[in-house]
Amino acid sequence: MPPDTLFAKIARRELPAEIVYQDELVTAFRDIHPVAPIHVLIIPNKVIPTLNEATEEDTALLGKLLLTARKLAEQLGIAEGGYRLVLNCNPDGGQSVYHLHVHLLGGRKMTWPPG
Ligand code: AMP
Repeated sequence: MPPDTLFAKIARRELPAEIVYQDELVTAFRDIHPVAPIHVLIIPNKVIPTLNEATEEDTALLGKLLLTARKLAEQLGIAEGGYRLVLNCNPDGGQSVYHLHVHLLGGRKMTWPPG
């Protein structure tokens, strides 16, 4: 069994968060320390610690994360102007919460490369 996580508790509504979308597979909520005017995290409801632990069985779930991000970008008004999706993996990737999540960032011009 993967460990319980802060984000799993948010998905179960045991911890407060501004949830912007939820269904039986995924939950999306506002990042507590936004780095852009729009900063939403999209997570699978089940715990996958990092992308390294994702399996072939998670193929549809991973696709669902991306399509949820796309729909939220439209709903939040950043689809046309543009946005960035980020998935950090492990320490060198900058991951701090070990429950796989996609950052949806928008509302300002992004720079490249990331730090
Ligand atoms: P990462 O560094 O990719 O693992 O991203 C983790 C993100 O989770 C960071 O952007 C944090 O600001 C965010 N975060 C941590 N705790 C919470 C929380 N309780 N509610 C919302 N976002 C959080």
